[in-house]
Amino acid sequence: MTIPDGPSALSTAPPSTTPNTAAVALYNPFTGAVITPGVDDAVPQAALLGLEPPRYCTECGRRMVVQISPDGWWAKCSRHGVSDSRQGGHR
Ligand SMILES: [Zn+2]
Repeated sequence: MTIPDGPSALSTAPPSTTPNTAAVALYNPFTGAVITPGVDDAVPQAALLGLEPPRYCTECGRRMVVQISPDGWWAKCSRHGVSDSRQGGHR
């Protein structure tokens, strides 16, 4: 009745060390510039007021398809999907 310990022969997948960077903005959504921590980006005044929809994906910097709707806006990244003005950028 010995239970073998140590690495199993069933799976030898390496441990995942991929950092979870969800919800971390890497790119300025209005200019597409890479965000440098500690450095303030120039954000358009309208964007600060929430009137301007983001035009670039904050995760990959791609240009998004932006659509203005009567109750706000939505923006679609071909890789990361749709975000809209009511989500606030969080999932
Ligand atoms: Zn994206």
